[in-house]
Amino acid sequence: MAEAGSFAERVKQQADIVRVIGEYVRLKKSGQNFTGLCPFHAEKSPSFAVHPVKQIYHCFGCGVGGDVFKFVMEVDKVSFPEAIRIVAEKCGIAIPRPKTSSPEERKENQQRTLLVEMHREAQTFFVQQLGGTLEGKAARAYLEDRGLDKDAIARFGIGYAPSGGDALLRFLKSKYKEPLLIESGLVSRDQSGGARMYDRFRRRITFPIANDSGKIVAFGCRALGDDQPKYLNSPETPIYSKSNVLYHLDRAKEALRRADFAVLVEGYMDAIAVARAGISNVVASCGTSLAEPQIKLLSRFTKRVIVNYDPDTAGQLATERSISLLLENDFEVRVLALPAMNLTAGDGTKYSKNADPDLYIREMGVEAYTKLLKDAPPYVDYLIGRARHMDLSTGEGKLRAVNFLLPYVQKIPNRLLRSEWATRIAQQLRLEEPVLRAALSKAAAERRSGLKVAPELVGRAAKPVERRLIRMLAEAESFRLELAQRLSDAGLCAGLETEKVFAALIAANLAGSTIEATEIAASLEERDRRMLFEILFEESSELTWEEAESCLESLQNRQTERALAEVQRSIESNPASAEMRSLLAKKQELMRRLAAGR
Ligand SMILES: [Zn+2]
Repeated sequence: MAEAGSFAERVKQQADIVRVIGEYVRLKKSGQNFTGLCPFHAEKSPSFAVHPVKQIYHCFGCGVGGDVFKFVMEVDKVSFPEAIRIVAEKCGIAIPRPKTSSPEERKENQQRTLLVEMHREAQTFFVQQLGGTLEGKAARAYLEDRGLDKDAIARFGIGYAPSGGDALLRFLKSKYKEPLLIESGLVSRDQSGGARMYDRFRRRITFPIANDSGKIVAFGCRALGDDQPKYLNSPETPIYSKSNVLYHLDRAKEALRRADFAVLVEGYMDAIAVARAGISNVVASCGTSLAEPQIKLLSRFTKRVIVNYDPDTAGQLATERSISLLLENDFEVRVLALPAMNLTAGDGTKYSKNADPDLYIREMGVEAYTKLLKDAPPYVDYLIGRARHMDLSTGEGKLRAVNFLLPYVQKIPNRLLRSEWATRIAQQLRLEEPVLRAALSKAAAERRSGLKVAPELVGRAAKPVERRLIRMLAEAESFRLELAQRLSDAGLCAGLETEKVFAALIAANLAGSTIEATEIAASLEERDRRMLFEILFEESSELTWEEAESCLESLQNRQTERALAEVQRSIESNPASAEMRSLLAKKQELMRRLAAGR
């Protein structure tokens, strides 16, 4: 990835991988390497290794590995350019000002800058409208009725998009060109495909949506009256992708780190209500379900979440989907399902209503909400509760409940915990425990077989001779070229488990380049990359040409053995073959060669 002569390459040459990784992982010297507990999977004894000479890391447990940039990208969840910058900073390497980028990149950057600027101006405009006009005053009264006072309006930048249809357009038109206005999503073209443009948001309360660095990149808008849809948000634009933004994250960062958990709610009204209640570590997914990139974003700050979605059907489904995704990303998940509230209407009739966090806090107060949050049960309890509401009177009904729970229980990585949950599920659902356990262990077995390559198998697939030769091709400066030539000429690597690793190393040697582990790895698939790294991390004795020759001989013999087996199969499968004579002669020749080789 690091191009020759590039800044990335310079950083890589100057950076000390042991020092950089040492800031994240406690490393201990062990032989030629450093080892520690892997930051990418849970473990008690260290299987994570860093190679100070080759400047690579590798985990023998979960199989991750790469160079210093890859490590920072994975551990900090950042892009490649960002990783370069972080490594450079950690190592005190001066960062050059971004210089010549391609014309397209420059244009795109320029466009993004303009779009962000336009959103800032739109924000100013919306804020001025609220309270500044007759219409805006009505909007303000509506907000106050919903419990959002002046302070809240200012704090969350709440504004108003007037009903006129082109007020914002007229405000922006003098400064921005038409295509950019359309690109921003703030302005739409006539439905009939005509040239007329109008404001996307009309007669709506506006909520600015910022990305994690605090720049406004979109708006979420709520209808003032009964207009449909009730909520209307910005479309996807060059600066906004719904699945990449968590509402309120820009303001929640500090609180998330401090509290080490996040309250996850559905919409911005909920997030505002919770934040105003003094719980700043709240974010909203702004959609019915959480998306994978949002989870990655959140995991930079905490890996513990309390999901507090609406208790309606859509909210329940969203809760369940989110639990699955969060568990897959190793989050600790609790669920707060707010109880239905008994309310009294204006005419005195009593009714019961599902409560979203906004309504609940308004009706029941901050303290009641905080207490529920504190007591929020682990997700399995929540799910058992859901299952208990299913019809459990028949065997079929019970089976449905178990099938509903199993996928989640399967995701519990710890066997003891899994077993504990099984007991609880059996008790709560009044199931025969052995029946449930049988279902569980079957599911667990399926889970295991579902795993791709078991990590410990990767390295062992390569025989000792192959491992030594690979090591020589990578490190034996005095004869690696000659070795590559011999292997290539005789075609000795065809059909080996390690064929692709050999091919990459031989090609690099014959091309006359220096052997960089990460560069070889870049051309390999993950499984082969792991094989290569595992071999490079082995403790090694001196590499000599004598040993190389004996390894070559051994490969040669294996090749002959394979050819012999092939001939033998042909002979046996068709004893009446016209080619029998030549087959027998070939067999003789191969046996002679084999005997000579030994
Ligand atoms: Zn690991």
